[in-house]
Amino acid sequence: MPLVNAAEMLTKAKAGHYAVGQFNINNLEWTKAILLTAQELNSPVILGVSEGAGKYMAGYKTVVGMVNGMLEELNITVPVALHLDHGSYEGAKKCIEAGFSSIMFDGSHYPIEENIEKTKELVAICKEKGLSIEAEVGSIGGEEDGIIGMGECADPNECKQIADLGVTMLAAGIGNIHGKYPDNWKGLSFETLDAVQKLTGAMPLVLHGGTGIPADMIKKAISLGVSKINVNTECQLAFQEATRKYIEEGKDLQGKGFDPRKLLAPGFEAIKATVKEKMELFGSVNKA
Ligand SMILES: [Zn+2]
Repeated sequence: MPLVNAAEMLTKAKAGHYAVGQFNINNLEWTKAILLTAQELNSPVILGVSEGAGKYMAGYKTVVGMVNGMLEELNITVPVALHLDHGSYEGAKKCIEAGFSSIMFDGSHYPIEENIEKTKELVAICKEKGLSIEAEVGSIGGEEDGIIGMGECADPNECKQIADLGVTMLAAGIGNIHGKYPDNWKGLSFETLDAVQKLTGAMPLVLHGGTGIPADMIKKAISLGVSKINVNTECQLAFQEATRKYIEEGKDLQGKGFDPRKLLAPGFEAIKATVKEKMELFGSVNKA
């Protein structure tokens, strides 16, 4: 099945009280691991690409070519969206051009008026070309590709203003953080989430920084309207741990253990296991 935008899968998720995972990709192993797991579990999935990862993978066209090739050659039949994560205005335009099916425009660092203006323009382009679009209000804590957010809570009225522009889904800061959570983290602000959902109605809400949020908080967030959850760091940690183990056990020195297809296999399997665990937690299994 060719790429789809994220609108239908997220509308269904919101109505069905589960969430679709966005798993960020970094290379071929990542992409293949996520797609195969989604297919095995009969789950819809969103592949996230940050601008930094896009550059690393030799550009957005390379990413589109790789993903489209895999959808066909791996016989992927579950709905898959290819989504730009935390896109700049220019990056969003490049991805639309390259063949992504979904974009996020992160205008959270602009004053609200400018965020609205630029979001409005991109909403019009996405509507015309059939892409879904995610907007962000209230910056998300931690560091992602050099952008450091303070983890503030979004103003629910600003969320309503942005939601009314016709975006497909909305990321609202509710105290969530990218990367590992610090020991003194205060937890998610369900009060903010509840207020945002009350004002934005059926709009699917997005939770960034899914790594390390306790399972009960994830479930509560889903019950309050979160229908897309972004996972990035957790797959990186799983890959790193499995690869470290392989080398520390000296397996790369045995026989043809140096072959990249062998060397990268434990990391690949670890990503698959992480994605499976998340899809089960989010409730998207058998929702394709
Ligand atoms: Zn994010």
